[in-house]
Amino acid sequence: MTEYTLPSEGIVSLPAHVLAQKIQSGELTSREVTQAFLDRIAETDNELGAFLHVGAEEALAAADAVDAQVAAGKPPASKLAGVPLALKDLLVTTDAPTTAASKMLEGYRSPYDATVVRKLREAGIPILGKTNLDEFAMGSSTENSAYQVTRNPHDLERVPGGSGGGTAAALASGQAPIGIGTDTGGSIRQPASLTGTVGVKPTYGGVSRYGVIACASSLDQVGPCANNVLDTALLHEIIGGHDEFDATSVDTPVQELAAAAEQGASGDLSGVKIGRVKQFSRPGTQPGVTERIDAAFAQFERQGAEIVEVDCPSFDDVMGAYYIIQMSEVSSNLARFDGMRYGLRTGDDGKHSAEEVMASSRGDGFGPEVKRRIILGTYALSVGYYDAYYLQAQRVRTLIAQDFRRAFEKVDVIAGPAVPQTAFKIGEKVDDPLAMYNFDLFTLPLNLAGLPGMSVPAGTASDTGLPVGLQIIAPAFEDERLYRVGAAFEAGR
Ligand code: GLN
Repeated sequence: MTEYTLPSEGIVSLPAHVLAQKIQSGELTSREVTQAFLDRIAETDNELGAFLHVGAEEALAAADAVDAQVAAGKPPASKLAGVPLALKDLLVTTDAPTTAASKMLEGYRSPYDATVVRKLREAGIPILGKTNLDEFAMGSSTENSAYQVTRNPHDLERVPGGSGGGTAAALASGQAPIGIGTDTGGSIRQPASLTGTVGVKPTYGGVSRYGVIACASSLDQVGPCANNVLDTALLHEIIGGHDEFDATSVDTPVQELAAAAEQGASGDLSGVKIGRVKQFSRPGTQPGVTERIDAAFAQFERQGAEIVEVDCPSFDDVMGAYYIIQMSEVSSNLARFDGMRYGLRTGDDGKHSAEEVMASSRGDGFGPEVKRRIILGTYALSVGYYDAYYLQAQRVRTLIAQDFRRAFEKVDVIAGPAVPQTAFKIGEKVDDPLAMYNFDLFTLPLNLAGLPGMSVPAGTASDTGLPVGLQIIAPAFEDERLYRVGAAFEAGR
């Protein structure tokens, strides 16, 4: 089934930064490049199911605008101008439907573009289409999509991870060179790990969430995805920065991320201290994953880094804290889907009350996982339980942030597995939510602490032959460290 992984030659095999240079030099046009990816989507997506919507005409029109700019000798709008992108269908766009992979939003058209989408358009990036995800970004396998299953290009029987499985599968199969994901508890890094691609969750507040359908607002971040570290850095620079339309957006300049990646590409890590968290070496971790992570630390040492063991005891409580907070916020955020203001409305036959129509619409519009979370989240927030669940979870959240703070007094970055296992079979965990939630064990702590993290390919596990991701974590607003260390790791492999 290797024909579904990244081809070894042709336009679709090339990194985004190389494509951008060829477009600027006139060796290729953006139309040719965009068409090559559209062709690859047409050839492979019946089987892969990465895209919910492909916008060929709109993408080619955006490509033509870049080509006209190049022909006129004008400077490029960005370092990735003309390179097309796969967009997670959780960001609203005016020229395509936005569904969040939910029946609730079937056919919905947004009257405005998300800030990230606006920035992509201004940077001359054609949008190939909207990619599949778990409904409202809740899940770890993309199986919770109301529309279709997405397959892992490395093994079509297996999941591509989630919730951003569509973007990850598109990158791993050469359907797109760059993509956008969102990460509430791992939805960028976990699919990147399972598909052998690079995914970055920026520092909370670093990228605008305006126009991103809210999952859990205190955790959600938008981030860049690609097949190599430099491409994610270039994309991060384009989408990052302050936005007055997002109250949680922080007004600090975006760091020199591409420069950090270029510096890292020398492979030299002398003087860099890399933390190895005791709690990330768990008994349940697949031996093939542990093997790759051990090899990664050995490589870091060869590259001159110093490895320091760090202890983060409250990470053991991350699962309960994350899911209580996530579900509580979901129960509140998803109250807006009431059949009155947007999306699906059922049961409105003139004989039923507004409450009955709301109940009917929500019953028909939401899938089982979304309903489970709304019910559990509502319970956790209810009178009498709030202190026991929600407040307690917030205390654990504070402890996790303190553990990170103490660790970063000793080290520059932390590294470890992104996910305890490689990709599982489609259908294997759908009936066991706890097993599914367990998959996020290593990605969750960062979201609770608001820190940036990256998953970068660390080879394939010898026991399953499937990709393993190395997770790198940095202090808040030190995203450039991810790119420096990530690119060094990539160069040293
Ligand atoms: N898998 C996690 C969850 O289901 C993370 C989802 C995400 O990051 N959007 O909540």
